[in-house]
Amino acid sequence: MSNPPDRPDNPERGERPATRLAHAGRDPTRFAGFVNTPVFRGSTILFETVDGLQGGGGRTTTYGRKGSPSIDALQDTIAELEGGARTLLTPSGLAAISATLLSLVGAGDHILVADSVYRPTRLFCDGVLARLGVETTYYDPLIGAGIDALLRPNTRLVFVESPGSQTFEMQDIPAIARHTGPRGIWLVADNTWASPLYCNPFRLDVDVSIQSATKYVVGHADALLGAITCTERASEQVTRGVQALGMTAGSEEVYLALRGIRTLGVRLERHWRSGLEIARWFATRPEVATVLHPALESHPGHAIWRRDFTGASGLFSIVLKPAPKPAVTAFLESLRLFGMGYSWGGYESLVVPFDVAAFRTATEWRSEGQGLRFHIGLEDTGDLISDLEQGFEVMAALV
Ligand SMILES: *Cc1c(COP(=O)(O)O)cnc(C)c1O
Repeated sequence: MSNPPDRPDNPERGERPATRLAHAGRDPTRFAGFVNTPVFRGSTILFETVDGLQGGGGRTTTYGRKGSPSIDALQDTIAELEGGARTLLTPSGLAAISATLLSLVGAGDHILVADSVYRPTRLFCDGVLARLGVETTYYDPLIGAGIDALLRPNTRLVFVESPGSQTFEMQDIPAIARHTGPRGIWLVADNTWASPLYCNPFRLDVDVSIQSATKYVVGHADALLGAITCTERASEQVTRGVQALGMTAGSEEVYLALRGIRTLGVRLERHWRSGLEIARWFATRPEVATVLHPALESHPGHAIWRRDFTGASGLFSIVLKPAPKPAVTAFLESLRLFGMGYSWGGYESLVVPFDVAAFRTATEWRSEGQGLRFHIGLEDTGDLISDLEQGFEVMAALV
């Protein structure tokens, strides 16, 4: 494991993230001393006076769709950890992405989206946004300051995701921000890989940071949830957009996320350590052509990872050397401890094959062997490696 850079202090409170994880967004004195904020279910909120009903009492929550003490607790916790002014919850990570885009752009606008972006983000841009008159250009995720050449007078937003989904390109977000910031172009980041703990995108000058809380915040593969965290400048427009879209988070999901986030620190440290150990092991294997993990010194984006991140999650990819398809299928199907299925961020290890060559438009993804994305869970790494070893033996018999 490479030496982690020092974790930054919380600038406001002088407390480190592990401490804030345990205490942010909680006020037991409001709930009879109970440690956890209870689950609030409901639509109608009653008022004693007409003035109160009409917003006079200073209460911000007037209807269940606009919030509850449980929603506030989670929103405040995520906002504090990510270092933003305000967080809004959505029913899924993809809903956080679509609501942010619908809030910030409109007909006639042009947006720039990283070619390595999460595929459903791309489908939203090419489908819904195109139909509404928003033009999307995909750009090379390694572009950095070169983004300048792609900005047009009507460019309203640049979308980054670092590292990229499946292929793990690291983006130079500050270099991009130096060109978007002065022109007032919104800079939006999908920060799911790092979780709110290992990257603070507001230090990198983004306007909006998106989390699929479904992943590490919930952490147990038992709920879907999204979070949009904004700067002061973006907050009003995004809040109006999310409320106009009628987006709200279910009370059960919010409770599961609040429960999950309290242990995010210890879980992530283990995902980080185990993921890196297994990535290093893959790098020694003759079956493997490349390991795509930004915390490996050999990764082309390693310097950016060291500069901008304070840790790594358990998600990375490998590219196998060319092998017959039935051999790769046999490898995958022989694994006992790695489930095959989408999503990640739970306590369990997962693997999915991927192929991005068919849908990239700004860059060419060339690899001769099969790409495999792994999520390393909280299991014993010795057991995981034994499982992978037996899988490679099964594969070898068919090569
Ligand atoms: C999973 C994922 C999403 C979507 O999250 P859901 O909660 O499944 O809608 C968005 N971005 C990234 C990078 C993801 O991995």
